[in-house]
Amino acid sequence: MAPVRLSHSWSRRLYVGFFLLSLTYIGLFIVRTLSADFTPNNTTVDLFGLIGATIVAVASVVLYFNAKLSGHPQVATILFILMTLTTAYVLYQNGGVWSVFTPAWALLLFIAPLFGALGWVSSLVLLAGYVATGYLDDEVTAQFIIAVVVSSILPLLAGVFIWNQADSSEDAVDKNVTSLANRLSEVANKSEIVINAIGDGVIAVDGKGIIELINPAAQEILGWGKQDALLLNYRSVFKLTDENNKDLDPALDPIQQVLNNNQQARGNKLAVTTKSNKKLFISTVVSPIGGPGSGAITVFRDITNERAEEREQAEFISTASHEMRTPVASIEGYLGLALNPNTATVDQRASDFINKAHEAAQHLGRLFQDLLDVSKSEDGRMTNIPKVVDLVPFAHTIVQGLTQKAADKGLTLRFAPIDASTQRKIMPVYFTNVDNDHLREILDNLIENAIKYTPQGEVVVDITGTESVVVISIKDTGLGIPAEDIPHLFQKFYRVSNADRQSIGGTGLGLYLCRRLVEAMQGRLWVESVFGQSSTFFVELPRIDSQQAAQLNDEQARQAAQQAATAVAAPAAAPAVAPAPQAIPAAPAVAYPAATPGTPPVAQPLAVAPTAQQAAPTAPPVAYVPQPAAAPVAYAPPAPQVAPATTVPRGEALTREQIMERARQLQMMAEQQRSAEQPRQ
Ligand code: ADP
Repeated sequence: MAPVRLSHSWSRRLYVGFFLLSLTYIGLFIVRTLSADFTPNNTTVDLFGLIGATIVAVASVVLYFNAKLSGHPQVATILFILMTLTTAYVLYQNGGVWSVFTPAWALLLFIAPLFGALGWVSSLVLLAGYVATGYLDDEVTAQFIIAVVVSSILPLLAGVFIWNQADSSEDAVDKNVTSLANRLSEVANKSEIVINAIGDGVIAVDGKGIIELINPAAQEILGWGKQDALLLNYRSVFKLTDENNKDLDPALDPIQQVLNNNQQARGNKLAVTTKSNKKLFISTVVSPIGGPGSGAITVFRDITNERAEEREQAEFISTASHEMRTPVASIEGYLGLALNPNTATVDQRASDFINKAHEAAQHLGRLFQDLLDVSKSEDGRMTNIPKVVDLVPFAHTIVQGLTQKAADKGLTLRFAPIDASTQRKIMPVYFTNVDNDHLREILDNLIENAIKYTPQGEVVVDITGTESVVVISIKDTGLGIPAEDIPHLFQKFYRVSNADRQSIGGTGLGLYLCRRLVEAMQGRLWVESVFGQSSTFFVELPRIDSQQAAQLNDEQARQAAQQAATAVAAPAAAPAVAPAPQAIPAAPAVAYPAATPGTPPVAQPLAVAPTAQQAAPTAPPVAYVPQPAAAPVAYAPPAPQVAPATTVPRGEALTREQIMERARQLQMMAEQQRSAEQPRQ
């Protein structure tokens, strides 16, 4: 039987026990030396007993305080044997199994098996010696045998039984630990094989950013050998830059982010510089290992080729759609002329055919426009000219522009901030500083979609907000969107393919473009939908207060004035073909009376050019003032527009350049028509 492994605290308790027992012997020796009369029960400890007890006492103290030695089973066994020897000697001197030391002896025999075979065999030898002496002295009686059995044999057997049990449970624990360790090492081996086999680069760092693992793929991509890279800081090996090759802001470093906040970070907008100074675009997934700051594992992939392909594709799409847009616009224009009874005469059948061709040409025109917008937004050509927008009137104008389109389909298009009965509602003033054209494009797109995908019922546009954001919602009672399509809805060319919307035409680019534009405004776009019942699209934009709005407005007006002055001063450099985009009048929002303090909330024409003062509302954005006459936050809608632009294809109203191009085309067509008609006259 091997010695039982005692925990540190249990060995120390044992040494305390040995120390106290030996101290008892030493104390008895001192009492006997001072006066034999005071010796309790006539017990006696002589010099040999004293020597044994002193050795045990000193050794116990030493072992108690020396953690290294006390953990040694052999050392503990030797001390135990010394203690047993001393106790056996004292016992023998004081009447054997009948003495007062018998309990101590019994206790020692009980714990003897704890020290393995050496422990209990040595105790048994001592016991046998004692019994032999008793036999020689002719003291072996029935009582003697009973006393020996009770005081010695039974405790020893009990010890063997009990400690053996403990031993076997410890063995079981041992076995479990071993099998667990084996399994762990098996798993570790498998993980290593997997990590080494995958084609993606893997780098694991500890809490201080020191590289602990770099797999062969990462070595190949980065050009660093394993031995060189290990134990270096990851920044020396995994040199991240942004897409434009600029040093990465530490706050945007995904590994640092993960070490700081212990949350997975994904991205595909980073580049890495290899050992040979080559720049590669990569996509990364960085995950935490353990608790905050414990470490991170980065899995990355070289996407340089994909990027190049994407760029080529985008360039092709951009060029192709640009080249094709002009002929398609002209086909659309001619078909429009052919359908117009003032400019052409066709019979009913031909008119039907031409109508279909006209619709197809319009669809193509929209597709090219969407493609152009998308490629512009992707390659950074999309201009972004932020202007202060007072959202309620701005959105209201857009809603009014689409009311007829909804009515044509038998739908109600409601603008919730305006009370239908009084046409006036107290609203907080929601300002935001974004590109007006882009925002108009987004709202147009979402409301048109709501109309398009709603067979019956209504579409409600609402505006709410908090101190920091403003949320525009477009809710319809239409077809809804299946839950499984929602995660993909804002991807390029994604269309929901259901039987109930097969006949509804579209390009699958509108929502993608909306998402890109909203993101460029630092906003969010999302949808909540119950399939078959309704959908609500939300556009969240950063809100600015009226003071910021006033300041920004002043600045923007100054810049616009400067640009206009420059354009006038240098007419040769900028011929009057098309004004710079900044010169396009601001959104009507800033011209609204609602934002001008003290102005009664009555309808004003949208075309009023805003002065800097008008454009600088100072009303608190969320203050509620109960008297409408004095209310700087009261918004009165303008008179409904006479001719809503329902038939203008999307995108045509976007830029002045496009409008002028269309005007030129129509003028050209009219001239051609005139010259064709002249010979007839
Ligand atoms: P599309 O040109 O096809 O309308 P979008 O990107 O605008 O392209 O929309 C993508 C898809 O999302 C559409 O095909 C349509 O199925 C779904 N969708 C968009 N808006 C709505 C809506 N309001 N209700 C139901 N489905 C919608």
